[in-house]
Amino acid sequence: MARDHGRAAATRRSSDVPHFDREADVVIAGLGGAGVCAALEAANAGAEVLVLERAGAGGGTTAVSDGMMYIGGGTALQQACGFEDTPEEMFKYLMASCGPDPDEARIRLYCDGSVGHYEWLLDQGIPFKAEFYPDRMLSPGEQGLTYSGNELVHPFREQAKPAPRAHMPKKEGSTGAFLMERLIVAAEAKGVVTEANALCETLVADPDGRVVGVVYVKEGHEFVVRARRSVVLAAGGFVNNEEMVGQYAPHLRKARFNAATDGDDGRGIRMGMGAGGAAVRMHMTSVTLPFYPPKSLMRGIFINASGQRFMPEDSYQGRAGEICLLQENGRVWLLLDDENFERPHFGGGELAAVGETIEEVERELGFVAGTLQSTVAIYNDHAARGEDPLFHKSPEYLVPLTAPPYGVLDLSWDKAIYAAFTLGGLHTNTRAEVLDADGHPVAGLFAAGRTAASFSSPGYSSGSSVGEAMFFGRVAGRNGAATTPH
Ligand SMILES: Cc1cc2nc3c(=O)[nH]c(=O)nc-3n(C[C@H](O)[C@H](O)[C@H](O)COP(=O)(O)OP(=O)(O)OC[C@H]3O[C@@H](n4cnc5c(N)ncnc54)[C@H](O)[C@@H]3O)c2cc1C
Repeated sequence: MARDHGRAAATRRSSDVPHFDREADVVIAGLGGAGVCAALEAANAGAEVLVLERAGAGGGTTAVSDGMMYIGGGTALQQACGFEDTPEEMFKYLMASCGPDPDEARIRLYCDGSVGHYEWLLDQGIPFKAEFYPDRMLSPGEQGLTYSGNELVHPFREQAKPAPRAHMPKKEGSTGAFLMERLIVAAEAKGVVTEANALCETLVADPDGRVVGVVYVKEGHEFVVRARRSVVLAAGGFVNNEEMVGQYAPHLRKARFNAATDGDDGRGIRMGMGAGGAAVRMHMTSVTLPFYPPKSLMRGIFINASGQRFMPEDSYQGRAGEICLLQENGRVWLLLDDENFERPHFGGGELAAVGETIEEVERELGFVAGTLQSTVAIYNDHAARGEDPLFHKSPEYLVPLTAPPYGVLDLSWDKAIYAAFTLGGLHTNTRAEVLDADGHPVAGLFAAGRTAASFSSPGYSSGSSVGEAMFFGRVAGRNGAATTPH
């Protein structure tokens, strides 16, 4: 648990630093996905790079992740798997799906640079197998490409030409550790130096507010490192900081599983705030509800405490989680008939009711008489004609629920797996510079990954976090290395 709760980590004045213990051109806080890519690009630009990592070794949450990366625009992998995509269609999808007031400039850069970023990953020794996995989730095998968002779901399928964009390195199952191993080896080969067990505590700024160094603690001793050119904050998000969650994203208290590691305690964000950086979109989160596989579960209907549907049931796990958690008291159920009933493969979902008729199920759940019956009647009536005028579920999952017995799975927040992490963080621009409340860059300071506010908020598509962390980590590393020394 963070010691100073949700407060900004006060910046130390350079006049209070009697001497620096060491120095480097670019100092990076955190050796996760964003940090290693920042380090690689800064080193490629000829900078002397020092990475400070609080854990015993690098990897961070990226190394425990599935390693899916949301990349597109027509990568060689997409083409080899037979899919057409363009930066423009990817841009249209992200603009439509990333919530109100999406970060257009950063989304534009990300889409335009996505094909090049894929090539860069290949150059770092990351292989991808040109095979498509159709199940809209991490492939258990080595397949390299899948859908990981709502590209095929209403209203997005009408707003942008759908294409699968989750790129998965060639390795069975979760690929995060493999991805990080390869990138860390590449960074070491470029001469990047990492100091492990080094917990960054605060930034050092000169009298003009320019960031000139970092204070860190190792084995109980404090050290101060001078950053000749810049500091990059790449220290993860804040889902493991209960006070910050309460302050900024209290709905996450209902999510039972933090998709995070110890480093996600908000320290990087608070260091940036202490130096004058603005924290934005702090209530935005990724909440995944793995209610499928099996896919047959998407043929059921989600209902809330009023016995009503509230979303297309073919929504991606990430969007479904967000929407379900925000229903009245987080109480949601999935109603299925005998033809389609199965248990979610990833667990959760107690059987809440079984009945030979919908009326029986309605009574068992304690709903107001007639509510669930009318919901099912309206749904079945339209589904029989291949229509869903309320939520436009795709025909693939649209079948009348008419085969008794009917079963209801409880997918409420306290019964099912809701996996969450934070998407809010420091405000950054397309150069990955940290911005203050007026939108001016804080001199000498860059941020990327979950320490920076994501463009994916809400409407998260899997792979956006690692994808964005690595892409903007590279941007931060390049611009950090190009900053004029102080
Ligand atoms: C099980 C699981 C599966 C996931 N699958 C996916 C997926 O497939 N695709 C996807 O896009 N996202 C996925 N996510 C989310 C994703 O992994 C993270 O959001 C993303 O990796 C964050 O990258 P990052 O570089 O910002 O942080 P990290 O990779 O966590 O790196 C931050 C680093 O900073 C270090 N650090 C923190 N504080 C300090 C400090 N004060 N001083 C020094 N070092 C510090 C940490 O130890 C860590 O090494 C998944 C998450 C989980 C848990």
